[in-house]
Amino acid sequence: MFSQARKFIERALVGDSVPDLVRWGKYIPSPVVRRIRSESFVEVVRYAAEHQKFFARKLREQGIDPRRVRCPEDLGDIFTTQDDLRTLPAEEFLCREPELVYETTGTSGGPKRVYFSYEELDFAARYEAAAMFENGIRPGARVVCTFDGGYWFSSTVTFLACKYLGVFCSAVGKLHPREIYSRMGEYRYDVIAADPTWLVSFSEIAEKEGTFPLRLIMAAGDRMTDVYRNYVESVWKCPVSLAYGSTEMGGAGMECSCKDGYHLDDYNYCFEIVDRDKNGYGELVATTLSRRTMPFIRYRVRDITRFIDAPCRCGAPLRRMRRIERIRGRRDEMVVMGAGNMYPEIFERVLHDVAGIDENWQVVVRQEGLHDILEFRLELTNGISPAPVEAAIQANLKTLYPDVWENQACGMYQLSFRFLPPGSIEQGRKRRRLLDERAA
Ligand SMILES: [Zn+2]
Repeated sequence: MFSQARKFIERALVGDSVPDLVRWGKYIPSPVVRRIRSESFVEVVRYAAEHQKFFARKLREQGIDPRRVRCPEDLGDIFTTQDDLRTLPAEEFLCREPELVYETTGTSGGPKRVYFSYEELDFAARYEAAAMFENGIRPGARVVCTFDGGYWFSSTVTFLACKYLGVFCSAVGKLHPREIYSRMGEYRYDVIAADPTWLVSFSEIAEKEGTFPLRLIMAAGDRMTDVYRNYVESVWKCPVSLAYGSTEMGGAGMECSCKDGYHLDDYNYCFEIVDRDKNGYGELVATTLSRRTMPFIRYRVRDITRFIDAPCRCGAPLRRMRRIERIRGRRDEMVVMGAGNMYPEIFERVLHDVAGIDENWQVVVRQEGLHDILEFRLELTNGISPAPVEAAIQANLKTLYPDVWENQACGMYQLSFRFLPPGSIEQGRKRRRLLDERAA
């Protein structure tokens, strides 16, 4: 199932023990990791060419011989998209008889279905266990996991990861925060794995009624804004570590205690960032290297990020695992303009601590003559005057997104502020933070 290099390492160094996986991991030099990755890539490409209808057809259409493929670039513009997964029957992607299925709902169309074998699930759990171990979880910890159950992937994987670590675990699905809060004392949970919004509600209860000693909070989902994270950390006096992944990809990466980007699982995925802008931001693309039931070749994740080149301050053993920045935005929400490629998340971060504005704000890209205007439409509260609000926003933009700021300084676009009476910013059914009002 794996390349020769990986087989060697798995057998000789890792065994079944997660602490060993982490301990020995640091002795594997980066060139060997790269070698494992590229050999595994060649292997999964050949496997999928033989067993996956979808990929075999793409190769035929493009006239590419799979035996000549050495790296992702050799596949030209062959990708697997979320629409492919949503609209084509599962038989197009299945390479062998599956044992499990997970689903993920999207914003449009039907669910995406991803099939696994038991062995693949177990394997994924070992790597998640390694990430948890790296974040300080040891035997004696007591984990409660409230990731959504149902057809979702992460609850089971977290449960199995705890099994590998030999720690107490309740993976109970998304129960009401109060249900868990009322059991905190009885079961002495000291590690919580949950979604960001659940964590916020849970922390609101604890803020009023008292906290318990925790050693770690793991949050899945990059929708954990800095505001949420700061709040949860301040209530519990405990670090919040973010994990990155999806049902299609599985667990792709996790933060270390430095909280400076996600360390990627370079053993089981071949990550690329495509369509990069001049600052290196582009769409994350992942090839699953270890799965054989339903492997994805160059799956377009739609998340925008960039690789972090500098080594992480955390040092060994994670030092060798490459990192990506927190997700900058979604490709489908991107607006291309003079400021660069803009995403709603940028403005959520820029506005989050600006005092005196209603949370019903919008940012609009419009055109005046030949110039792009980036316009903040805001409703003021507490009788504050516009000047300090403008100054605070400009200061945040300059600090948080120096590249965006610089494009303004060199005349690529203009900033504008429009202050409106309360209640006048119309939001549709689904709140739109960033609008493009330029003529097509
Ligand atoms: Zn690190």
